Amino acid sequence: MSASALNPRTTTYEFLGPPGAFLISLGVPICTYALYFGCSEQTGGCPPPLAVSRISAALSDPAWWKGLWDTQAALMYLAWYTFCVVAWAILPGDHVQGTTLRTGVKKTYKINAFSTFLLALGLTVGTITRYGPQSFTFLYEKFVGFITASLIMSIVQAVACYASSFRPGALLALGGNSGNPIYDFYIGRELNPFSFGAFDLKTFNELRPGLILWFLTDISMVCEQATRRGGFSQVTDSLWLVLFFQGLYVSDALYNEPGIFTQMDITTDGFGFMLSVGDLCWLPFVYCLQARYLVFTPIELGVVPSALIVLCNFAGYYIFRTANGEKNDFRNGKNPKNLEFFTTESGSKLLTSGWWGLSRHPNYFGDLLMALAWSLPTGYTTPITYFYITYFTVLLIHRQRRDDEMCEKKYGKDWKKYQKLVPYRIIPYVY
Ligand code: NDP
Repeated sequence: MSASALNPRTTTYEFLGPPGAFLISLGVPICTYALYFGCSEQTGGCPPPLAVSRISAALSDPAWWKGLWDTQAALMYLAWYTFCVVAWAILPGDHVQGTTLRTGVKKTYKINAFSTFLLALGLTVGTITRYGPQSFTFLYEKFVGFITASLIMSIVQAVACYASSFRPGALLALGGNSGNPIYDFYIGRELNPFSFGAFDLKTFNELRPGLILWFLTDISMVCEQATRRGGFSQVTDSLWLVLFFQGLYVSDALYNEPGIFTQMDITTDGFGFMLSVGDLCWLPFVYCLQARYLVFTPIELGVVPSALIVLCNFAGYYIFRTANGEKNDFRNGKNPKNLEFFTTESGSKLLTSGWWGLSRHPNYFGDLLMALAWSLPTGYTTPITYFYITYFTVLLIHRQRRDDEMCEKKYGKDWKKYQKLVPYRIIPYVY
């Protein structure tokens, strides 16, 4: 097949095209820092007293810019990334095939994200047990340095992937070959850059260095509070809840590693700055905002509010897990609940009962309930700790629309038929 037939030009834009891609590429790093400086005891609160003069004085002060860099944090981050690569290489794991690529080839992946997590967790808990909670507070103390280190890693990877995508024979993402460098750099030009044997950079980044680091950062927040308050027994119930909920979410994603091979990030999107900065910088250092806030704003919830929040989280988790389970089983040729479905002209089948008969993205509904439960423990004194649920709602509404458009292209009038059968997009009977 000729190169142009294999890699057709992208003729439609998402994210409002190059201007949108440019603004998001700039906005994500700025927002990550802003969420730190806008909600931190170092700057005076969440939010700190707002003074335009303070912001402009900081931005025009070279010392402030220098403060974003921390050599120790950068070296620690590099060591962490290397640890993840080495763990991938040496820990045993099954080899599993992903979906078929346009070339007709199936990629093979090594499944050991969960064992990498267990190893990292074992080393962390061992360190804390041996040397006390103060030995694991460095992620809290060097937070800005870690943001900068992970941001540099995401930029380096995105630039390297964009540059290497011009080598002959590279399989490009159908949406990442517009010819506009700003847009293609952001959205991801090559489908699977830096893919050698069972190693694939995109899949590796999606689950390991960012996701596991998110949970380790949460643990560091608990250690910081324990150090300040005189031991783990003094850590507030609100912070334990956030740690437990997010730990469950991270463990679930890592344990169900093969589940990501059918997600659009893996099957459709290229690997560019959107995914590199999302996986490596945004995810670990924005998603831990609630835990970081609770370090300097200890909140005791009490039994009844805690029970209600736990209920909200588990309702969300139940919907998220059963909905994803129904679809994964079905896509793997199993239908243990005998759910109804119809066969499309393309030969592929779509579920029309169970969770997927109630809305077209029931898994997003579960995810949103969990996101709410992660913010509720922070109380109501600041809207900033509700950033995650707000941003995530926007992301999932946009993602649902993207997926709907893709499914419409894939299934044509059969998708219209499915939309009539299942009119709700995310929340059954509501939206
Ligand atoms: P989904 O797992 O929701 O998969 C969408 C695909 O499922 C469609 O493209 C279609 O693909 C298939 N499908 C749609 N309807 C049906 C049906 N009725 N029967 C069978 N198959 C159907 O996509 P995502 O990758 O967006 O989400 C995966 C999970 O990750 C979700 O739980 C989501 O909440 C979570 N997520 C979390 C994020 C975070 O930052 N925490 C970010 C994004 C997602 P096909 O027909 O080709 O199989």
